[in-house]
Amino acid sequence: MIDSMKFRTFVNRRTRTFRIASGSSDTEENVVVKLVSGDDFGVGSGNPTDVTHETLASMESFLGMVPKKIVGSDENYPDKLHERLDGIATGNTAAKAAVDIALFDLLSKRDKKPLYEFLGGKRDRMITDMTIGIESLETTVQRALEHTKSGFKALKIKVGLDLEEDIRRVSAVRDAVGPKIQLRVDANQGYTVEKAIKFCEVMETLQVMVVEQPVKAEDYASLKKVAESSDLPVMADECVKSVLDARKVAREGIADMINIKLMKSAGIHDAVMINRLAEAADMGTMIGCMGEIQVSIAAGLHFALSSENVLFADLDSHFNIIDDPSSGLVFEDGCLIAPKKPGLGIVTPLDG
Ligand code: MG
Repeated sequence: MIDSMKFRTFVNRRTRTFRIASGSSDTEENVVVKLVSGDDFGVGSGNPTDVTHETLASMESFLGMVPKKIVGSDENYPDKLHERLDGIATGNTAAKAAVDIALFDLLSKRDKKPLYEFLGGKRDRMITDMTIGIESLETTVQRALEHTKSGFKALKIKVGLDLEEDIRRVSAVRDAVGPKIQLRVDANQGYTVEKAIKFCEVMETLQVMVVEQPVKAEDYASLKKVAESSDLPVMADECVKSVLDARKVAREGIADMINIKLMKSAGIHDAVMINRLAEAADMGTMIGCMGEIQVSIAAGLHFALSSENVLFADLDSHFNIIDDPSSGLVFEDGCLIAPKKPGLGIVTPLDG
């Protein structure tokens, strides 16, 4: 039985302002949730963004209503937890993710297994990329070299504001880092269909691995056109938030891959479903993130490790947060490594 729930808000500065095609930010807000059941507890966290139409205030307001819905309920059924959360309000997926992650942390701790093992996974590490925001060509190259020097074997470059400049930036990065570094690009809905198709053609010549959300999220027809015209895998991000969105994209062949983020999917429960759906449709997935601290980054990693169908990890936001209140992840040889401890294996201020 769930005996209690509490949450605490953290606002942390970013190491540097992050600029993408849809906006910029220099702090990150995260809410850490703790669920207690008997002698066991679990923690989760959520980060509000425009993508899920949440703010810190909306998260706090939603989470304030959760205890009276879930305290006293059976903790063993994540689907029942989600029914209760959905009974409070639709949406609010980052707030729901925080509660969902806390429950999975609790259940896997109780099972004395790292969460990825609890979810059926066998590997314990994945290469993660490091994202470079929209910067001048010189700064983009400088960052690329800094990141590869500090061990990253994959880079994700944000594009989508200026096609010609984007091509110059990605080409310059490829020249600077050499052929062995994996490159991924994300246009955050910034291109028209024509520009996106041209961009994909050039990206293929630069051995880029995947092009993420080149056109507007609501324009599924355009995304499909780009995916069909391009030999490079085209990934859906902003247009797949839920299991139903994933079903549409898989059924109608709208993209080649799906970017799963726990903040969009309301946590691990639906992330698993989206990934299974994608796998059944022969689509690989990537685990992505918002401006998250190590708690939910670890949750994303454990989820990704649980299925071979999760091909890429883009779990980098915690590297850019000063004074992350949570810790425990190890970065080694370009890989993010899940702690061997039970649950998420993450230390937080709400422990104990
Ligand atoms: Mg994206």
